Amino acid sequence: MGAGPAAVRDALLAETVAHARGRSPFWRARLEGTGAADPVEAFRRLEPLTKREAIAAGDALQAGGFDRADDRIVLSSGTRREGGGCLYVRRQPAEEEALATFLDGLRGAGTAEAPGPPAVVELWNVWHGLPPGAPPAGTFRVPWMPHDNFFELARAAFEDAARFGGGRIDAVRGSVSALLALAASAARRGDAPLSRYGVRAVGTNSYEATGRSRRLIAAAFGDVPIIDSYSLSEFTTPAPKCEACAGRHFAYPPLLPELFEPEIGAAPGGAGGPGGPGGPGGGPRPVEWRPGAVGRLVLTGLVPFVQRTPLLRYDTGDLVAATGDCAAADDLGFRVLGRAVDAVAVAIDGRARLVLFPADLEHAVDDQPHAARAAHLLERLGVLEGCDLGPPKVVARAEPAAGGEAAARIVVEVAAVPHATDVERRTLAGTLRQALLARSEPLRGFVDGGGALEVRAVDAGAIPDRLFKR
Ligand SMILES: [Zn+2]
Repeated sequence: MGAGPAAVRDALLAETVAHARGRSPFWRARLEGTGAADPVEAFRRLEPLTKREAIAAGDALQAGGFDRADDRIVLSSGTRREGGGCLYVRRQPAEEEALATFLDGLRGAGTAEAPGPPAVVELWNVWHGLPPGAPPAGTFRVPWMPHDNFFELARAAFEDAARFGGGRIDAVRGSVSALLALAASAARRGDAPLSRYGVRAVGTNSYEATGRSRRLIAAAFGDVPIIDSYSLSEFTTPAPKCEACAGRHFAYPPLLPELFEPEIGAAPGGAGGPGGPGGPGGGPRPVEWRPGAVGRLVLTGLVPFVQRTPLLRYDTGDLVAATGDCAAADDLGFRVLGRAVDAVAVAIDGRARLVLFPADLEHAVDDQPHAARAAHLLERLGVLEGCDLGPPKVVARAEPAAGGEAAARIVVEVAAVPHATDVERRTLAGTLRQALLARSEPLRGFVDGGGALEVRAVDAGAIPDRLFKR
C-alpha cells in the first residue's frame, strides 16, 4: 500500500511466508499448492483465506514450535455465528512484546522527553477471550460486561486513574458499546458525571462511532476529542482515524493490507458478479490500492508481530474504499464501508455494482429521532432500563425491475418508534432517503440513472433484532 519501503516489506513478507510454510501444516499445503517456490511469488498467488476456512482449519493453522502453556487465546466475535464455531487466534508473549515495543516507538516519536506513563482507563472486552498480560503502569483495566458490577468497577478505575494522573486522565479506551453504556449509566442511574475525572481524550474501537454515538460520548465526558480506531480481534494493530485525511492507516509493518474485488452474487437486473477470469484459482482478484477503489479488506500479519497463528491474506469480510494519498501518514488510507455481506448490489449497464454500503445506512439512520432501536443487551438483562442504545432497526435490499421499469429498485425499510404519528413516519422515511443520497455517491448515481430508491417506515415488530454482526 502506498509508496512505502517495498524492499523492507518484501523482506518481512518473505520471512512471514517461510515461517508459515515451515511451521503450520495448513499453510504448508496451501503455499505448496500455489506451485511457486519463491515465497513472495507464492504469497501473490494465494487466494484470500475466509473466516470459514480459518475455522475449519482448526489446529492445523497454528505454527508449531511454541510452548502451548504460554498461549493467549483471542476469540473473534465476528466469527461466532459462522457454521462450525468460532475462530481462535493464539498469541505468544514474543508477539505481544514485539508489538508493544513497536507501538511504544510510535507513541514516543516526536516527544523530546518521556513524560512518564500516561493515566489510562481501558474498558477491556471480555468477549474476546482470556485477559491480556498485566497492564503497563498507569493503565487501569476494567472488564466490560453487561452487568451492574461493570459500572462500579469502572468508577473505581476512573478514581484510581485520576489519582495516578494528578487529577487528570490522559485517555479512556474502549468499544463504542462499552463507552455508550457508561454514558447512559451516568444519565439514567444518577451517577456522578464522568466529566469530573478530567478525561483528555476518548479512543473507541471495534466499529466506527456514528454522529449520535459521538455526541452521547462527548456529552458524558465533557466535549473531549474522540479518536476512532478500526480494529479486528484477529489482529492487535488498530487503524486510527487520521485527522489529516479523515481516512485510516494501519501503522506499518505489523500488518500488510490489500484490497480484493468484492464478490457480488446475482444482482437484480440480470447481471451476476463482476465476472472475469478471477484469481489464480478463479477466486477474487486483487484490486489496485488507488484513491476511490472499493474492495474487500484483506490483511496479512507479518512476523515478528504475528507468529503463533499465521494469517496470510485473511479476508476481513469488510468492504473499504481507499482514500487519497495522505502527506501526514505518507501513505494511502481507507474508509470502512461495512460488512460485505450486508452491501446492496444492482445491475447497471449489465454489470453488478455495489450502490448501498452498510456504513452509509448505519450512519444515516442513527441520526433519525423516530427510528426504533433494537433492545440493547443491557435492557434485555434489566441492567439499564430504556437506555436506547441498541442499533436502529433497518433493512435494505434490491428488487428486480417491475414491469415498465428500466432499472432495479432499492427498498429500505426503517422501523419507526411505536408512538410515531403518520406525519413523523413520513418525515422519518423522507429524511432518511435524503440523508442516504447525501452520504452515498454510488446511490446518487443509481437514482440519477433512473433507478428507484424507496424508503418506507414500518412497525418495529416487522424487523427482527440482531445481536451480532455477520
Ligand atoms: Zn491520513
